[in-house]
Amino acid sequence: MKTKNELIKLREKYLSPSLSLSYDVPLYITKGRGQYLFDQKGKKYLDCINNIQHIGHSHPRILNTAYKQFKELNTNTRYLDENIINYAQDLVKTVPKNLEICFFTNSGSESNDLALRLARQMTGCKETIVFDGAYHGHLISLIEISPYKYKGKGGMVPPNYVYEIPMPDQFRGKYRGRNSTNYYLKELEKSISKIKSKNRIPIFIYESFMGCGGQLVLPIHFLKKAQDRIHEAGGICIADEVQIGFGRIGTHFWGFEYYEVEPDIVTLGKSIGNGHPLSVVITSRKVANKFHNGMEYFNSFGGNPVSAAIGHEVLRVIKEEKLQQNASLVGSSLKSMLIELKNVHDVIGDVRGEGLFLGIEIVDDKKSLKPLTKTAKIIVNKMKDHGVLLSTDGPENNVIKIKPPMVFNSANAEFLIESLQSVFSKI
Ligand code: PMP
Repeated sequence: MKTKNELIKLREKYLSPSLSLSYDVPLYITKGRGQYLFDQKGKKYLDCINNIQHIGHSHPRILNTAYKQFKELNTNTRYLDENIINYAQDLVKTVPKNLEICFFTNSGSESNDLALRLARQMTGCKETIVFDGAYHGHLISLIEISPYKYKGKGGMVPPNYVYEIPMPDQFRGKYRGRNSTNYYLKELEKSISKIKSKNRIPIFIYESFMGCGGQLVLPIHFLKKAQDRIHEAGGICIADEVQIGFGRIGTHFWGFEYYEVEPDIVTLGKSIGNGHPLSVVITSRKVANKFHNGMEYFNSFGGNPVSAAIGHEVLRVIKEEKLQQNASLVGSSLKSMLIELKNVHDVIGDVRGEGLFLGIEIVDDKKSLKPLTKTAKIIVNKMKDHGVLLSTDGPENNVIKIKPPMVFNSANAEFLIESLQSVFSKI
């Protein structure tokens, strides 16, 4: 077995320098089970950040499903196959009735790129409205519409068809508080007007709960009104559920349902395959038919029998193990405990989120809201020493993210709080 230092050196030699490693002292993880990870020495960590291993690391039902299907057959969508059909049938039952056609892809980025293609085909336009701070993927088409990337290090000026509106951050955004909906709506309307003045049609892509934006919950009526405005202009709305879907927010299965909206296109990824590279775009027959312009849509891996079987099993496990209910129950008690912690520690400016998608924003004090980026990083590193894995994000990188596998339980929540208490008391 290679040592940690050997691995670091070999990474430097063979892997892209653009990859990053978490924590000041990187971890060498060799085993995962449920909500736990184990390093090369057997030290156990409570995983509070891996929203990809949605139903838990190394879930036996996924291992068995993958083994069974791999042993039998793995081809592509050019043959008839029951796996993809059975899965699609069950998947569309989870979304609004109008969304009935599935496209199978292999990553969140690929889904969002395809969603843009569908929307562009539908509108005949590329004009895209995005939230500042949003991240929608690593392909060229998505870096271009992701302020999180194009405004960051190594970024560039976005193309002129990208229209950015302020991140609807009720805590430190351009407009603050629960009543900020109309202000953000005005910003959206300004972008729609500009697009209309060029005789173009808007595409609006959004994350209902912003992950990379810092675990943001949108002002409650914003999304419904925003979608109405886009539709009035003949436009298309894409809900990016890559990070938040599949019951994570507890109250609802999908993030957009929380705001009672029905998008035209939904993109799924990450948790959908519990770590297996699978993703999906779901849309209406109308949008799918418009896309069907004679050019074949073929994807070598997308929707292959193994991927479809795994995706279907993940969906069944979420239901049978009542993981959405668990996210709701454990998440709400965890949030209450975090709010109690906030009342004691001045550096906790805000606690937000729903279910097992929570954020703690670290600030200098509750009046100035000066972001404490370094402190947030120190907290995350110290938590690692306590055996708890967390990460930071948001435009100021001062939001500690909590988005564990959905099997996270009450004892885990209590352990997380005790560890945070211990770390915060020494800050
Ligand atoms: N959309 C969102 C909201 C994401 O968080 C991510 C990944 N962090 C993506 C898209 C891209 O997904 P992937 O890394 O699977 O390409």
